[in-house]
Amino acid sequence: MSRNGMLVILSGASGVGKSTLCKHIISSIPDIQLSVSYTTRPIRSGEEHGREYWFVNEETFRRMIDQQAFLEWAEVYGNLYGTPRRELMQLQDTGIDVILDIDIQGAKNVMTNAEDVVSVFLMPPSLEVLKSRLEARGTDDAEVVERRFQKAQTEMAHHVEYEYTMRNGSLEQAIREFESIVLAERVRTKRLDHAWLSRYGLIDKEVIE
Ligand code: 5GP
Repeated sequence: MSRNGMLVILSGASGVGKSTLCKHIISSIPDIQLSVSYTTRPIRSGEEHGREYWFVNEETFRRMIDQQAFLEWAEVYGNLYGTPRRELMQLQDTGIDVILDIDIQGAKNVMTNAEDVVSVFLMPPSLEVLKSRLEARGTDDAEVVERRFQKAQTEMAHHVEYEYTMRNGSLEQAIREFESIVLAERVRTKRLDHAWLSRYGLIDKEVIE
């Protein structure tokens, strides 16, 4: 292993295509996984416990907060969402990069409290497309859709807090950009375990000690 895994934050409005993008990245590049959050949100049809989220009740979630089980947690659209700390660290320790699909509050927390973070904000192609994607999902009622649409616009102004901002104009382009970010960040000199280079005889061990 050349280094510890890094945390790749991916934020953007719901309906913007984060899940689709993540699915592609996980299969197209090795050693990267998606963190599965805990949530109190009701399960949607097509979702599976343990795949999209760990669906728990509020009591369980609050107990986990007390036990400091979350790296971060936040209330989003009236439901609680949290990133489990232990699973994340286990992956990072084995050199696996972990994508966190989290909202702007969670991202802010992770940016200030965790090390080795890369942050990416994903914009929709346009507001019209975002609105129609939220509606087409058909899993939320009109009021929820409108609330998510309004919040999405407020959140988009926060993209300046992220290192990278992408626009999901075409999935193919977005995949290429996201892959490029991850691959380039992996080879940043600051992330290298220099002992790894010395194993190949490329640098003198004494230079790094
Ligand atoms: P959805 O309910 O549509 O799956 O997700 C709603 C929002 O919650 C999305 O913006 C998503 O990024 C965010 N989210 C999902 N998991 C977490 C988490 O563990 N922490 C935080 N802070 N936000 C999350």
